[in-house]
Amino acid sequence: MSVVAGSQRRVGVFGGAFDPPHTAHSALVMAALEQLQLDELRVVPTGEAWHKNRSLTPAVHRLEMVRLAFARLDRVVVDPREIRRNGPSYTVDTLAELRDEIPIDKLFLIIGEDQAAALTTWHRWREIPDFATICVAARAGIAGARGTFDALSGGFVPFQPIELPPMDVSATDIRERLANRQSVAPLVFEPVARYIAHHHLYQTA
Ligand code: ATP
Repeated sequence: MSVVAGSQRRVGVFGGAFDPPHTAHSALVMAALEQLQLDELRVVPTGEAWHKNRSLTPAVHRLEMVRLAFARLDRVVVDPREIRRNGPSYTVDTLAELRDEIPIDKLFLIIGEDQAAALTTWHRWREIPDFATICVAARAGIAGARGTFDALSGGFVPFQPIELPPMDVSATDIRERLANRQSVAPLVFEPVARYIAHHHLYQTA
């Protein structure tokens, strides 16, 4: 979709560790582009993610895999700002920076249901609705998240669901399969699989 004078510029932000990026991430990006009618969607790999309780694969690899996974998608921009930021990276800072930097009429934060359930633990989460509408996609196998999902939609937080058929895919499962020398062929795109093999990533659990 092109931006014409007088039109509303709609920008989405999709963050994650992407360790590695997988087909559910891409499906969510495509659903968001379409359903939210975005002019641009920023995919933002996390730097030092404060909420993950394991150390992540070096950012240089995750960034490259994200580029490989999303390069072919029109209107998608890979944004390395959180990787370049020193110290812990917080979504609220990214949203505030984007609001300052680029012309945006409407900003959307795109998350899966597991992250929606954890939203109230995020750094300065109460400020997030000042910057963006929170858009949540259902996630398979997330017990207990439904309440938060519904509470968000009925509460004060600007909220919009994204329709996504439940996809039982997670980076955790993919890392485990790779460590066990199992195939991940349907779960990650071929260029990402080749990158993983070439750099011998995820060989141990
Ligand atoms: P891990 O298993 O290591 O926790 P992950 O598969 O959840 O990783 P992330 O990079 O942490 O992947 O996720 C980025 C974003 O994508 C999050 O908002 C997450 O909720 C969402 N997401 C990931 N997988 C799915 C899925 N199968 N369905 C819906 N949303 C998903």
